Amino acid sequence: MIQTETSTVATRLNAAIRDVPDFPKPGILFKDITPVFLDWQLCDDIATDIISQLKAKPDAVCVVESRGFFIGMLLANKLQIPLVPVRKKGKLPARTKSYTYTLEYGSATLEIHEGVIQPGWNVLIHDDVLATGGTAMAAAELVKAEGGIVAGFAFIVELGFLSGLGKISAYTQDIVSIITY
Ligand code: AMP
Repeated sequence: MIQTETSTVATRLNAAIRDVPDFPKPGILFKDITPVFLDWQLCDDIATDIISQLKAKPDAVCVVESRGFFIGMLLANKLQIPLVPVRKKGKLPARTKSYTYTLEYGSATLEIHEGVIQPGWNVLIHDDVLATGGTAMAAAELVKAEGGIVAGFAFIVELGFLSGLGKISAYTQDIVSIITY
């Protein structure tokens, strides 16, 4: 097939993301990334694109439940580094540390298994969407509580109008988003 134009990852991603109005609450425009997963090549390209924008290779990637898990595993695999899940309260079976925060539509508690992050590890935090920044900040606080260094954040989408960067830019300047709305 002759390609008449080359689409960037951001352009293909933008075309794949579905806007769902009033989910999970009235007034929220939900950025549904599940259609992205139908295109394995796009998923692979997203992970490659994020990695190409990182200033340094991290020692581990910390992924946030649940939509951070999908591309997060690709990042860990391509970088050949450990993956550390941060999950909602009550999901991780062993001893955990927890952090409670407010988000765009409610409040939540996130947890991390104790003793998984080695002291001094440079940890990249990944989630699908940066909205108000509360979730990413909670993950960062959990990484710090476990002795890790927050070395970077990587998102597929940033909702710039919610000013999430303000909550996380004090941790690191290495913050990557493929698309900002
Ligand atoms: P926040 O803590 O406000 O930055 O919210 C980020 C988290 O909530 C991420 O885990 C997202 O998956 C989810 N999220 C928040 N707002 C949206 C939105 N408008 N569309 C899709 N996901 C969202």
